Amino acid sequence: ATPTSIMVGTGRAAEDGILFKGGEHLERTHELEAIVLDKTGTITKGKPEVTEFIGNEETLKLLASAEKGSEHPLAEAIVAYATENSLPFLEVDAFNAIPGRGIEATVGEKQILVGNRKLMRDHQVNAVDAEEAMAQFEIEGKTAMLIAINGEYRGVVAVADTIKETAPEAIKQLKEQGLEVIMLTGDNERTAQAIAKQVGIDTVIASVLPEEKADKVKEIQLRGKKVGMVGDGVNDAPALAIADIGIAIGTGTEVAIEAADVTILGGELLLIPKAIKISHATIRNIR
Ligand code: ADP
Ligand code: MG
Repeated sequence: ATPTSIMVGTGRAAEDGILFKGGEHLERTHELEAIVLDKTGTITKGKPEVTEFIGNEETLKLLASAEKGSEHPLAEAIVAYATENSLPFLEVDAFNAIPGRGIEATVGEKQILVGNRKLMRDHQVNAVDAEEAMAQFEIEGKTAMLIAINGEYRGVVAVADTIKETAPEAIKQLKEQGLEVIMLTGDNERTAQAIAKQVGIDTVIASVLPEEKADKVKEIQLRGKKVGMVGDGVNDAPALAIADIGIAIGTGTEVAIEAADVTILGGELLLIPKAIKISHATIRNIR
């Protein structure tokens, strides 16, 4: 490998918005055989909005007040929705985030749970009445969350995130380059499948807990594949680090950028097939 061609390659990549941490990462990128993409904030814009709320005003107030303590994009969407509807926020006495599941909060005498089916199961909340609405929202690619107050099911809130316009084209190009493309998400199977379908991804690994993301990357590596992992969140960092090439979304968290080998500016997914192309071209010049 000539240092000059690597320098030219990393320089060219940087001009396009592909920031390699070192020449060796550019050299290795052409070896990738699989690309794993996180869903929220990577394939989607990561700016979800509330589309439906089922429940009474009291439930909505408690829901929004509880979510004020969370930094999750889903929480931001709910807080924005309550603000737009001029709902007052109540004082929260206790708050607890449960990774991969949801949140738990106390407002006066009331205990509020917001999250997925797993969270409700953990607290023995019977939310069977919500199942039909939940399934419908999920088929539409929305993330539906259940709300319980004092252990009783009280409502559903659905949130939708839009896919990045260039995502389908980027995934098409990756497939044409011969790569296996996989979506990895903490969201449920049905929502994940709906989003995957919109962007042309056939393989989905859903309902993955934050701490399990790295294990899933490792499993693909154990199948003998060189894996590129693309992500934006704090919970993607271990997976980005373990991947053969970790690719951070430039609009993502600092933790993800630090854990990755390369950052794509503006979160433009078309820069991923481009990085692979530049890596191939660099290697050809070397040989
Ligand atoms: P993602 O990979 O989509 O970021 P997470 O592991 O952060 O997934 O979350 C998984 C699921 O846990 C969400 O789809 C949601 O159902 C639930 N959840 C997480 N945070 C919250 C929250 N603040 N409020 C309600 N539900 C939440
Ligand atoms: Mg994400």
